Amino acid sequence: MKRTLTSLLVVLISAVSLHAQAVRAAMHMVPTGKGWAVMSDVPEDGNQGDAVGSVNAWQTVARTTDSNGILYHGGSVMGGIVHVYFIWYGDWTNGAKKSDSQQTVSLLDALYARTGGLGGSKLALINSTYADTTKTVTGSFYLVQSTTEDYSQGKNLTDAGVKAVVTKAIQSGRLPKDANALYFVLTSSDVNETSGFCTKYCGWHDHSTILGSDVKYSFVGNPDRCAMSCEAQLQSPNGNSGADGMASIMAHETSEALTNPDLNAWYDASGNENGDKCAWTWGPLHGSLGYGAYNQTFGTHNYLIQMIWENTRGGGCDQAKGGKFYNQ
Ligand SMILES: [Zn+2]
Repeated sequence: MKRTLTSLLVVLISAVSLHAQAVRAAMHMVPTGKGWAVMSDVPEDGNQGDAVGSVNAWQTVARTTDSNGILYHGGSVMGGIVHVYFIWYGDWTNGAKKSDSQQTVSLLDALYARTGGLGGSKLALINSTYADTTKTVTGSFYLVQSTTEDYSQGKNLTDAGVKAVVTKAIQSGRLPKDANALYFVLTSSDVNETSGFCTKYCGWHDHSTILGSDVKYSFVGNPDRCAMSCEAQLQSPNGNSGADGMASIMAHETSEALTNPDLNAWYDASGNENGDKCAWTWGPLHGSLGYGAYNQTFGTHNYLIQMIWENTRGGGCDQAKGGKFYNQ
């Protein structure tokens, strides 16, 4: 896309899709806006077409009287203990940036560790304030298995290419087919996602029928590709701003996938999911932002993770379930 100032503004106002982690600049320029029109921007993906359906249905959706600032649209949430799978796409051993390395793999493995990780933490438990008609989100999840994938879809991934990466990992038997799971496609810094990585979003989540199951997956690229857009700070708690940036984006996408896996469960009247409502906000910090600040500790590591919208007490962004609400 030719990106003139006008078209960029149009893109920022109208095309930030409801399931994406917006870039920092977009959040600053359009603090409240995620347009509905967006979904028609990605017409080739039938599943994102589902979201168009929910958009069209919006006017007829019954709103709960006590909405806590976020509304239920009738779809499923993910209950139980959710399995997480990582697909490391590209070069994560000796790539172009220092963060294209096994140090990043280790840090994100630790973040999703079965014990002592993000899953089941007070932050993740914020998601347990969401439910559908038959089940509640538990906030429990952990990394079950990882695999690697070379540049099989090239260095310019489309949305369909991301889906193809997930499909291939399952079809080849390298990862199990798991409907109560979230598959992350994590790309090294030399890989672009052509629907808007670094310009419109830093990551997104979606779902699709893969080999007969409704599979939930998320794209998160190495934000060292565009640190000013997708990283909160260049000097980061673990001395690896790419990995630290991914940690925050992945936590955001995980929360949204748990509470809105098929893009038809929980989001507000502007199309913001529970991560979007608190995007790039942190609450109180240890240290100064820009100089290795952090607001969460899991296991032996500190992380700076954006807050999540809690669906109780009138609603608000917090760092821990039942904690104080913060605006920034
Ligand atoms: Zn989001």
